[in-house]
Amino acid sequence: MPEARTILLPMSQRIVVKLGTSVLTGGTRQLNRAQMVELTRQCAQLHHCGHEVILCSSGAQAAGRAALGFPELPSTLANKQMFAAVGQSKLMGMWESFFDIYGVHVGQILLTRADTENRHRFLNARDTFAALLERRIVPVVNENDAVSNDEIKVGDNDNLSALVAVLAGAELLVLLTDQPGLFTADPRSHPEAELIREVHRIDESLRALAGGPKSGLGVGGMATKLQAADIARRAGTSVVIAAGSMPNVLQRIVAGEEVGTRFPALESLEARKHWILAGQAPAGSLVVDAGAALALRHKGRSLLPAGIVTVEGGFERGDTVFVRENSGPPLARGVSRYSSDDLQRISGCQSSHIAERLGYDYGPVAVHRNDLILLG
Ligand code: GLU
Repeated sequence: MPEARTILLPMSQRIVVKLGTSVLTGGTRQLNRAQMVELTRQCAQLHHCGHEVILCSSGAQAAGRAALGFPELPSTLANKQMFAAVGQSKLMGMWESFFDIYGVHVGQILLTRADTENRHRFLNARDTFAALLERRIVPVVNENDAVSNDEIKVGDNDNLSALVAVLAGAELLVLLTDQPGLFTADPRSHPEAELIREVHRIDESLRALAGGPKSGLGVGGMATKLQAADIARRAGTSVVIAAGSMPNVLQRIVAGEEVGTRFPALESLEARKHWILAGQAPAGSLVVDAGAALALRHKGRSLLPAGIVTVEGGFERGDTVFVRENSGPPLARGVSRYSSDDLQRISGCQSSHIAERLGYDYGPVAVHRNDLILLG
């Protein structure tokens, strides 16, 4: 047995836990409630220790099939959507009652790829995660299977959970499956195969290794887990693939024990911001007063509408803008939470008055610190 290695981790982490259908059913045709309660217990314990847990749960279609008595139907998109429509509410009802045992509220978020690719919707979804987590509610995410066709669906919950980790700015993504991790060969046909403890490079040979057969009921296999790991670690999230049936698996991973296959994050939080801001030429500028410039430069604050003197250019909520002081060079670049039209109306205004002026609000800040990089 290799000696356990402990890695120093932050006290409180934002963790996305992805539970595949194979974990939730334990390889049977039905959701295994005892297994779900056990995983709920582990998530709730992390939650009560101060961590922020986001659950990405498969199992809607499995629950729908079981509820309808396993009808023998052709595997068409419409039938899958029907199973998901029936099963998603059942699945959610189960999570609700299991988390309730531990006094934890849950909130359902159903996403499609379109929600992560369109900037406006990306920001909306991000605000929803932030609002839930701020109130210590555990978001339970699944793909919106009932309405997503091939054009807009992510297709598997491994990739979906990686997008959620990026969206929510998670430190850790745990992909729980029916395997202890990634092996040097398929352990079912190669008993000498060894568990790979840590992956620093995802290259062709690793992809070839993971390209093997998919597990029974779920959509993903190791190939989609590698894709997910690659997306997440590039955006600053560490990833662990481990067996959902291992006792206290989540506690052990979060404690930094060497469990499963770990993919250390490639990027720092600052680099994540570059990733969020990448590819968008600033569409305008926010000219701020000296107090706001100081707060941004030296105090690590967000930019509030009160500090904005002038709004230059035309842009939408979610567009990238420069922040400058007078006519000087840009001091920062960030994502605006309000359109230029909105900001014209609320610049110089206290955040508590935004809703009054606009008739709605997207929160108190114009550019959030997490979406802002200082220049120069
Ligand atoms: N969203 C699907 C479901 O809940 C599962 C997709 C997957 O297993 O990756 O049934």
